[in-house]
Amino acid sequence: MGRIQLKSVTKSFGDVQVIPPLDLTIEDGEFTVFVGPSGCGKSTLLRLIAGLEDITSGHIEIDGADATDVPPAKRWLAMVFQSYALYPHMTVRKNIAFPLRMAKLDQAEIDKRVEGAAGVLNLTDYLDRRPGQLSGGQRQRVAIGRAIVREPAAFLFDEPLSNLDAALRVGMRLEISELHERLATTMIYVTHDQVEAMTMADKIVVLQAGVIEQVGSPLELYRTPRNLFVAGFIGSPK
Ligand code: ADP
Ligand code: MG
Repeated sequence: MGRIQLKSVTKSFGDVQVIPPLDLTIEDGEFTVFVGPSGCGKSTLLRLIAGLEDITSGHIEIDGADATDVPPAKRWLAMVFQSYALYPHMTVRKNIAFPLRMAKLDQAEIDKRVEGAAGVLNLTDYLDRRPGQLSGGQRQRVAIGRAIVREPAAFLFDEPLSNLDAALRVGMRLEISELHERLATTMIYVTHDQVEAMTMADKIVVLQAGVIEQVGSPLELYRTPRNLFVAGFIGSPK
């Protein structure tokens, strides 16, 4: 589960069209990275997929069903942001369990999912701590844990590592890639960082001013950039 299709999707804010008609298919289980300079529309595109913004025209399909008018909570996608707003007064266990308690799952199912997520994220020993007693990387993992327990059809990451220092960022990149391998779930990851895109992606979508310049594997973009923008941005020797 987790195939996402955008069909002639546009987005305008007032009179300003930030996404001209755009077609894109995100394959089931793939790690897709949206990359491009600041202001090119990466976050907007992710928010349209999540349903946090209404599209101006076009259609979005998730797993073959029209999701254009489906509210965010029912799209079954999990969004992970750069500012991981954890509840400081709650333990890690309660923070991770929070979306499940809101969804009124029974306690045995909540415990099972929280412990499963904690295991995957190496947080088992930290479940009774509060966010203030964790490192930045551990806090980011708790935020990811809160997304995992919902068992989403896809994960949407919006520059989740940009608040972390460089060393931690490298480690977290590896952890997110490993998570993708273990869960085999569709992931869309937004970044303006070319290295992140090249090292993490199965497929890269290069954006400039709301327009897709090229879609391909890291190797394809490196070897055969379609234009100078892609070449320059990816760092190809063209
Ligand atoms: P990125 O994430 O690639 O940095 P964004 O998707 O945040 O880019 O923004 C794309 C463009 O849309 C920018 O020009 C930005 O100013 C504009 N934009 C984003 N959100 C809004 C909004 N809520 N109202 C008006 N303009 C917006
Ligand atoms: Mg952004």
